[in-house]
Amino acid sequence: MAFQAVRGFKDVIYPESRLWDLLEERSKEIALSFGFEGIKTPVLENTEVFTRGIGQHTDIVEKEMYTFLDKNNESISLRPEATAGVIRAAIENKLFARKPVQKLFTIGQMFRHERPQKGRLRQFHQINAEVLGTASPIADAEIIALATTILQEFLDENKFKALRLEINSLGCPECRPNHKADLALYLTNNVENLCDDCKRRSETNPLRVFDCKKEGCKKVMQRAPLIKHYLCPGCAEHLGSVLDFLECYDIKFVQNPTLVRGLDYYTKTTFEIVSTSIGAAQSTIAAGGRYDGLISQMGGPDVSGVGMAIGIERLMLLITQDEEIPENKDFMFFVPLGSDSIEYLLPLSKKLREEGYNVKFSFDFKASLKSQLKNADREKARLVFIMGENEVNNKEIIIKDMLNHAQENVSLDNFIQRIRDLAENYNEEY
Ligand SMILES: [Zn+2]
Ligand SMILES: [Zn+2]
Repeated sequence: MAFQAVRGFKDVIYPESRLWDLLEERSKEIALSFGFEGIKTPVLENTEVFTRGIGQHTDIVEKEMYTFLDKNNESISLRPEATAGVIRAAIENKLFARKPVQKLFTIGQMFRHERPQKGRLRQFHQINAEVLGTASPIADAEIIALATTILQEFLDENKFKALRLEINSLGCPECRPNHKADLALYLTNNVENLCDDCKRRSETNPLRVFDCKKEGCKKVMQRAPLIKHYLCPGCAEHLGSVLDFLECYDIKFVQNPTLVRGLDYYTKTTFEIVSTSIGAAQSTIAAGGRYDGLISQMGGPDVSGVGMAIGIERLMLLITQDEEIPENKDFMFFVPLGSDSIEYLLPLSKKLREEGYNVKFSFDFKASLKSQLKNADREKARLVFIMGENEVNNKEIIIKDMLNHAQENVSLDNFIQRIRDLAENYNEEY
């Protein structure tokens, strides 16, 4: 019997894993340049963290969460998104007592029991950033700037230009209920044209009907009342400031008055960064928004927050669509012929690694030169260091350049200095 990974769960193997590592490393550096601090929270939380945080009547909590009872009969869930857990951690660790504004950054896997398709897995990964503790519209613009900076770092110019930032305001507890009431009334009057899901949504979460892809519902929603006509002066001013600040960052955007998000907690700013090239159904690369009541709702201080998430699998799809994945830099490769040379070569391999070179050491010291060189070639080694019986007697090593087929003998004493010189000539290759 051969084992297979769980449906919707995927292995990441080389060279994709290399690109993945670069993505994480560079994203962290960029987040650091914006002044974010790293946080790592567990993938498992008490279910209530999500029902309270994300909302009971969201698709995520109702249909998609991996929820089960542990051995103590406590309900726990795999995190379907990062924000609720990060806020739980900020409150539990009393971060707001240290600093009133927290800028937190994390990368990790999320879990949703959805139908797997291209770019959508049941275990997926997100780059996630939250600014907790400020209502300033500068924070909204900064979160969006962080997302676009990371995307710009990894996408070529054409793909980056093909991204579209869509932005909307969802209002606040002052103005949103007026819109919600009118929308609910409108949906009641048009209920016969809605799908079964939307009939239910129109009672529990009417805003979500804007997300329905069914033709009948889309047609109904074309004439539905839009939140932008209901925004209170505070919300309108906030949105105007965010848009102004995006222009200061030189970030292009379009306003999308029907943009709502699948999470209950968003207020005011909500945004998505979409790409048309992966396929219409899963075009969102990054998304986020402001959540004014969430932190207090979860037991923290009555402060506001704003956050974003970038989907790593979708970004990977975009990057690798028609480009080669960058592989590891060239390796140096040690080839011992027989066991006598090993005691000379192992210390030298250690020394080279300490100097920052990438070094592999052949395991097959009993194999022929030909077979070990073949192996070095398969490993794409640039420089190969060979030591057989003759070289042991003469205390020297053969340096073979696999690219231009040059070969030279150097004494053990001069070996390290010779490699430094060679590597310097190759410039950035090592
Ligand atoms: Zn408002
Ligand atoms: Zn519908």
